[in-house]
Amino acid sequence: MWKWLVLIVAGYVLYRLFANDILKKKKASEEESAAELQRKVASGEMVKDPQCGAYVSVDGNISIRDGNRIYHFCSYECRDKYLQSLEDGAHELPPQN
Ligand SMILES: [Zn+2]
Repeated sequence: MWKWLVLIVAGYVLYRLFANDILKKKKASEEESAAELQRKVASGEMVKDPQCGAYVSVDGNISIRDGNRIYHFCSYECRDKYLQSLEDGAHELPPQN
């Protein structure tokens, strides 16, 4: 009987330790990635997707050129929506490939 009780308590303690550890690690990695993102934005490695506001890498291949400006997008969907909004605004469009 005692054996079971000890096992249950030990299991509960282990579970709590484990759960705490995971939460801490998750928080730390979130803070780390936020700092990393800020650094990349500051250095120009990451730019804002003008359609949805997400930050994307300038290495990404989903981009359009508008005059001297190059816009980068997180997805083709965003790119197409942005192109559509440019069309609606009657801007000059870069050729779509
Ligand atoms: Zn997007």
